[in-house]
Amino acid sequence: MQLTVGARSAPSGADLAHIETWIFDLDNTLYPSSSRLFDQVSQRIGDYIATAFDVDRAEAHRLQKGYFREYGTTLRGLMLKHDMDPAPFLDYVHDIDLSPIARSDALEAALARLPGRKLVFTNADAPYAERVMARLGIGHHFSEIYDIEAADWVPKPFPEAYDRLAEVHDVDPTRAIFFEDILRNLAPAAARGMATVWVRNDSAWASSGADDMTPDYVTDDLPAWLAALFGPAAAQGAGDRSGEQGRSQ
Ligand SMILES: [Mg+2]
Repeated sequence: MQLTVGARSAPSGADLAHIETWIFDLDNTLYPSSSRLFDQVSQRIGDYIATAFDVDRAEAHRLQKGYFREYGTTLRGLMLKHDMDPAPFLDYVHDIDLSPIARSDALEAALARLPGRKLVFTNADAPYAERVMARLGIGHHFSEIYDIEAADWVPKPFPEAYDRLAEVHDVDPTRAIFFEDILRNLAPAAARGMATVWVRNDSAWASSGADDMTPDYVTDDLPAWLAALFGPAAAQGAGDRSGEQGRSQ
């Protein structure tokens, strides 16, 4: 049985035999967007801006989305335009209820089979990433978290963030693969020679601003895609992601 994942067939193991470093985005990549976990973060970003600038929710939303488009993250815009202190912002926006996500045995098993080291590359902060990965039951697979502070506050998709990652963690981009739900964040990785996997979802912002980016692979189901690297038998059952509800294939 040929397992087809997303727009392209899952690769055989041989296709990625050169990969030494597996790099994963966190939000909406390591857990499914159907959990709506990031909606909580987005809501709290809006709340924070509304309070900080004493504006209504509509104006806060306009600022939030405008900065996200222009600066990669809302926080980057707030820091550059308003000299905002990132620490209390990050603490506030990530103080969310993690119960919509649950342990994913399928993802845990798939990660366990990957040869080489695994890193997280997130525009969020490491304490939040650790909480999310603990909840998913996968934290032990990752040797490093490259977060927004480690990136010297320059987020994806700015090229400096990728160059700094490669330098700090001694990553050969031509022997690395990057998994990410926001398409525009894959472009700088591809430009540096990384293989790219778009873990897509149905939100408009996941694909906006990236008309010229063609990822090497596309999937709607990360655990199944990873499991398929090791053949159809290994992939069987990997698609039933625990804690996931209402996700379409
Ligand atoms: Mg993401």
